[in-house]
Amino acid sequence: MPDTSRQAGLRGLLAMAPDATIDAMATGIAALANPQAGHFDLATGYHGDLWLDLDALFLRPALLRPHVRWLADQLRVHRIDAVCGPVEGGAFVAQAVADMLDSAFLPGYREPAKQPAGYHLPPVTGGIRGWRVAVTDDAVNAGTAVRACAAELRSQAAEPVAVGALLALAPAAPAVAAELSVPFYPVDTMTSQVWPADDCRLCASGIPVTRP
Ligand SMILES: [Zn+2]
Repeated sequence: MPDTSRQAGLRGLLAMAPDATIDAMATGIAALANPQAGHFDLATGYHGDLWLDLDALFLRPALLRPHVRWLADQLRVHRIDAVCGPVEGGAFVAQAVADMLDSAFLPGYREPAKQPAGYHLPPVTGGIRGWRVAVTDDAVNAGTAVRACAAELRSQAAEPVAVGALLALAPAAPAVAAELSVPFYPVDTMTSQVWPADDCRLCASGIPVTRP
């Protein structure tokens, strides 16, 4: 007996609802990044009290798919022409969202010479003047990369219209979006304090920097 109708029906249901299965397996997006408390040099000119393993966050892209879809659904209403993300994780999110929205993808390439942080975009035939662009990142904390990408977009007469992130670190992240005057869509939010490296409260208290 090759197949019962019940087995065939079950296979059909699973084929139709792969994300439901993934949702059931996911333990929450923050947990995927193995959060660690301590005193960390975030390598962005800031120190902070929370470390996230962002490579672990991207280890299994299928686990991110429902979250990317949620982000795409939030950004769709902004009628965006492109999604821009810094090439350090943010671009992985931007590329996945752009794929779902059938929009353009603009990777932001870091220019190490620029301080505090500078990013350049690839040349686009015809330019990006007037494009409505969402800026995404994996985790937004002090928002250095998001702000720098938004500044580069504006310098090319494109309009950043929203910020999306897999993880937002409060209270800094919501302030970044407010400063850019655009709506902010984080999939999940965690609490973390950050300070400029030369004005770090943990350094001032003599607490040694933790190696993650
Ligand atoms: Zn410090």
